[in-house]
This record gives sequence, structure tokens and C-alpha cells, in this order.
Amino acid sequence: MHRPRLHLLATGGTIAGASASATQYVGYRPAVTPVQDLLAAVPALAEVADITGEQVAQVASQDMTGEVRLALAQRINALLASDACDGVVVTHGTNTLEETAYFLNLTVRSPKPVVLVGAMRPADALSADGPMNLFRAAVVAASEQATGRGVVVVMNDRIIGARDLHKTDTMTVDAFTSPLFGLMGLVSDRRALFYRGGLRRHTTDSAFDISGLQSLPRVHIAYGHEGDDGTAIDAFVAAGAQGIVHAGAGTASVSRRVQPAILAAVARGVVVVRAPRGAHGLVARGMEFDDETHGTVAGDTLSPPKARVLLQLALTQTRDPRAVQRLFDEH
Ligand code: ASP
Repeated sequence: MHRPRLHLLATGGTIAGASASATQYVGYRPAVTPVQDLLAAVPALAEVADITGEQVAQVASQDMTGEVRLALAQRINALLASDACDGVVVTHGTNTLEETAYFLNLTVRSPKPVVLVGAMRPADALSADGPMNLFRAAVVAASEQATGRGVVVVMNDRIIGARDLHKTDTMTVDAFTSPLFGLMGLVSDRRALFYRGGLRRHTTDSAFDISGLQSLPRVHIAYGHEGDDGTAIDAFVAAGAQGIVHAGAGTASVSRRVQPAILAAVARGVVVVRAPRGAHGLVARGMEFDDETHGTVAGDTLSPPKARVLLQLALTQTRDPRAVQRLFDEH
């Protein structure tokens, strides 16, 4: 086998962050270290692959946009179409890592490995986790085992599938897991160990083709709560949303006071998807709300931010809730 050739696409985040001192994170600045410095900080990468780098963005991931995500997916597709690139690593802030990973899982058109990685501690902190996470990510991206698995995230020695990834902790290095379906694998030194794969449609089997697309449909998330009266949903519709994710309590339940806002949105052609507010688990069609009668979509096991990503892509093809439901059932 030839020596793997990987390309690193850097987008910012804490993995490229700088703090006031090695022991202080409060007030640190994310997204300041350039890609060449990220690579230079981990000379051991050369033991795994030939790695080139490119700065795609330099943002804290709460500032990530649909346009940057589209450009990222299109750049990855161009890179992986060439024999000169065997896999891609993307450095990214952890705050919206879930969304970008799932977006790429649905839009990259190649079986070659795509690995996202971030860090919880700034690059210059004591025991920074970024350098080892980056090394592990390269190990996975260089591994034939990672071929055809869809986009994965490597953090804290774990390999987690993009669809099922959750950021479950705001601060510790153990920030990511997949509570419902578990890890896809582990990284041990220079070995990527896979134990399972995701069965939902992804990458080459995905329904979505974003080539040529420059923007994504407007979709917002309305967070349901006691006392909710549908104000947010009405406002999103008035602002021109084409889709709304209702992040409801329990199995994305809809209170009597919110129901009129949802029905009015549906009547105006806005596609409304139900996803669970806090917990993880299945939102089945018809569970706690009659999706069939009301023209809404059940979000399956996707969290609200990931349901938003899939809804944005679905809306590039259709505004028919039944067709959108099929896409949610399959991806
Ligand atoms: N603010 C950072 C970001 O998401 C946090 C992180 O990288 O973990 O870009």
C-alpha cells in the first residue's frame, strides 16, 4: 500500500485557540492559530501520512454558516475526486461540530475517509487535547478501515459516527459521545479500531447533491417550553422560514397553545419537523402528535440541530411533508 496522502482543512475553533495563560481558559480566543502552525505542532503526523493543509475559515464554530459548510463540502468533494488525496481531516470548533459533521455525512460524495476533529482546551493550554486529537484523527483518516463508514468525528480517543454524535458536556475533554447508539470505534496508538458502522444513508448513498449550491433554505429551531404560546414559530414564519424544527418536550410533544402556530405554518407551506428538546431517543411518526393529519414530520432520532441540517437539505428537493418524512426515515 502506498503512503497515505491526507489533506487538512482548518476552520478555526478552540483547537486553534490561544489563552492568556497555560492554566486559564476563561477569556481565551478561539480560531487564531493558522493551519501551518497546527500541523507544525504535531511533527508525529509525518509518521502516519503525507499531510498538506489549507485554511478554509478561521471562526469559532458558533459563527459557522451554511455558506461555509457548503464551500467545505464542495472543496472536500473536489479533493476526494482526485487520486492524489486519500482522505480529509477537518479541524472545527466543538460547539457546532455535530451539525457540520452531519451535513458533510449527507453531502460528501466519496467513500474515502473524512474525519472531523476539535479540542476542548486551547492549543497553548496545559495538557491541550488538540495535538493528540489531531494525531488520532490522521490515524483514522489514513486507515483503510475508515473507508465507506461515512463522516466520523475523532475526539478523546473515540471514533463517533456523524449522525449519532452529541456534545454532552460543555467543558471537559470528554465532551462527545453517542448516548443512543454508542461509539463506532476507538483509536489505540496508531490503530483505528472499528466495531460498528452506521446503517442510515450517507455520503455516496445519500439523496443529496450540493454541487453548484451556494446557499441553503432558511430553517429555524423553536424551543418548546412550559408557557410556550407559539410566538417563536409565528415570528420565524413571518421572517420567511421555509422550515421549522419544533424542539418539543418528551417525544417532541406539541402543547395546545403551540398547535395553532404549527398548523398555521404548515398551511403556509412551511415544513415543520418535530425533534426532542433535551433527551435523546426516537420521535416516531404519530407519537404524541398526529403528524399524518397535521402535515408535520417526525424527526426520528435526530437532535434539533441535526434535524435542521437534514431539513435544509430536504428543502432543496421538496416542500412536500410526506417526501420530507421519507428522507428523515432513510438518513
Ligand atoms: N468556541 C469554540 C468553537 O466552537 C469552542 C470549541 O472549539 O470548542 O469554535
